[in-house]
Amino acid sequence: MKIRSASLLTSAPHLELCPDPSMPEFAFVGRSNVGKSSLINMLTGKSGLARTSGQPGKTRLINFFSINDRWRLVDLPGYGYAKVSKADRQDFNESVSEYLLKRQNLKHILVLVDSQHEPMDSDLSFLEWLQEMELPFSVIFTKTDRASKSQVSNNVAFFLEECEHLAIHPAKSFQCSAKTAAGKNRILEFIGTFLSSPGTQSSRGKKKPQINLGWMNKGKK
Ligand code: GDP
Repeated sequence: MKIRSASLLTSAPHLELCPDPSMPEFAFVGRSNVGKSSLINMLTGKSGLARTSGQPGKTRLINFFSINDRWRLVDLPGYGYAKVSKADRQDFNESVSEYLLKRQNLKHILVLVDSQHEPMDSDLSFLEWLQEMELPFSVIFTKTDRASKSQVSNNVAFFLEECEHLAIHPAKSFQCSAKTAAGKNRILEFIGTFLSSPGTQSSRGKKKPQINLGWMNKGKK
């Protein structure tokens, strides 16, 4: 799939203010500083589309980008930062949970994990929560240009092993670099498969929506 057009549609603080659910949505989420903005800019080919932040936790809204007038890329606030008060964190976290659990046009969740590090509790507990809620998700390992190939593959293998131990089963995993654009085509092709075959889209959570904030409160490892 080629991205021909990408623009910010709107930003919403919580589910009720999200735009009409008329288009398929793909949510990108991860720890602050994981490289989410850089990845969004790289995928869309627009360097200024998502802000790349020097200030972790600054982006607190759910940002909706309209892509090719056909689907939406949804940029969720980063988790795992320490600079925001507990009350604010709870509030922000409820918005994210609510969006993930209740948004009917959400097709897939792409969870970003930094390939430079060994597995972090906050990432694993977030994935555990997605699994428990039976939401459809995949993992994108970011910043693969920053470490040697063997270091990246060790970290990726270690992370996926941890997932296996915890009975976390991502639909797919990708490796990417916003710097070299590695992984771009595979990620876009994956999203494209949902758009071309509507039958593959419906693996939404079947569990009763329940706002469980455990994954957020674990904070940094
Ligand atoms: P966000 O907080 O998740 O949106 O993260 P950003 O996109 O703002 O990235 C955090 C930092 O990592 C910035 O300094 C980026 O330039 C850097 N960064 C992000 N992705 C990559 C990448 O693929 N390769 C390299 N070398 N640096 C990256």
